Amino acid sequence: MQKLHLMKLIFFLTSVIIGDVSAQQNNLSYAVAWKQTAAEHRALYYQGFNIARLRLEMALAREEEGKPLAIISDIDETLLLANDYWGYLISNEEDFFNDASWDQWVAENRFVPSPGSQEFLRFCETNNVEIFYVTNRDQGEATFDLAYSNLIANGFPVADREHLTVLRETSNKEEVQRSIMEDYNVVVMLGDNLNDFSRAYYLTNTEQRENLVNQKSSDFGSKFVIFPNPTDGHWIRAIFGESEPAATSENRRILRSAATRGAWQP
Ligand SMILES: [Mg+2]
Repeated sequence: MQKLHLMKLIFFLTSVIIGDVSAQQNNLSYAVAWKQTAAEHRALYYQGFNIARLRLEMALAREEEGKPLAIISDIDETLLLANDYWGYLISNEEDFFNDASWDQWVAENRFVPSPGSQEFLRFCETNNVEIFYVTNRDQGEATFDLAYSNLIANGFPVADREHLTVLRETSNKEEVQRSIMEDYNVVVMLGDNLNDFSRAYYLTNTEQRENLVNQKSSDFGSKFVIFPNPTDGHWIRAIFGESEPAATSENRRILRSAATRGAWQP
């Protein structure tokens, strides 16, 4: 009997120690905990959609003759959130994005709408503002149908399949944006990655990205509305040289080096 208690105690202590160590070692923990629990994360989505709506209300009030009004929105981490996937990575002791499990996850249609997204898109629909969804994703042949079903499952208005563009081969959205702008007055663009707005931001140097944002600061909250994403995007590419860095010791060292840039050295 005593032996059984001792074994249970050892098992308990081992699981606590392993649990603590893995929690400390997982580079994703802070970012994902913030996405999963911070009301501030939620508030930033409401703030973004409120600003976008304000811009549309101003455009609608102007009642200008000319092209019909439209918005262009990214999908992932802008309108749809994948927190449950990032939580899975941590619970599976993975600390970098994993393309294979991501593709499997996307097919399960587990996305949830970002806070305020459904109301904002309904506002667009009610006021005859055309909604164009432009995403870059690649889950093979099924990519378009999966993206389309993700939108429908979350109650987003999709006028027809022409209003959804899925770029599998490139993350460059400018050609699609230009062709929409030929026929529509695009009041606002929404995204979680600077590349969702302009290819000019597709830079591998973090300082260059920062400098360009500084130069273009007045675009944000006017023609562009950006949402928070601390786990993926081209800011990752600027650090590692690729958007989906492998889970290697070298990449963990690079991440640490980025996080300690200019750190205090008392
Ligand atoms: Mg996105």
